[in-house]
Amino acid sequence: MLAIGRAQQGGHAHFAPGEIGGLIRKVNASTGELEPSPDRNIKRWIAKLVDAGLLGQPSTVECLVLPFQMIDSDIKRSPHPCPVHGHTLSWTADGWIDPEALWDDAREEFQRMIESMRLRGVPDEAWQDTKPFRGL
Ligand SMILES: [Zn+2]
Repeated sequence: MLAIGRAQQGGHAHFAPGEIGGLIRKVNASTGELEPSPDRNIKRWIAKLVDAGLLGQPSTVECLVLPFQMIDSDIKRSPHPCPVHGHTLSWTADGWIDPEALWDDAREEFQRMIESMRLRGVPDEAWQDTKPFRGL
């Protein structure tokens, strides 16, 4: 898929106008020549991929949005917002989310859990197997 190799932070894969059509060529029935696919075809494919859950609903011919659950955790960080959508948020079935904030929430939740175990007198050994997370 075109979007996976190019996705930036938030799962936005940006393309120049007409670029996707140039990458996905179609055979002209009358000349037999390969030619760029028109935007209307690309939009139809995008709609099918959105229905299949492979692309986020806000995808356009200039930005394919990978759903949050499909984004590689090693995804390139980008200081630049998506030029089409104007941000680096990730798409989920519930709408746009900020993955950085989710991570912060998870970290805070974990700290609260540790603190609550300490307050209840649970010995350190009881959560030793969570050690790799404590350095968060
Ligand atoms: Zn975008």
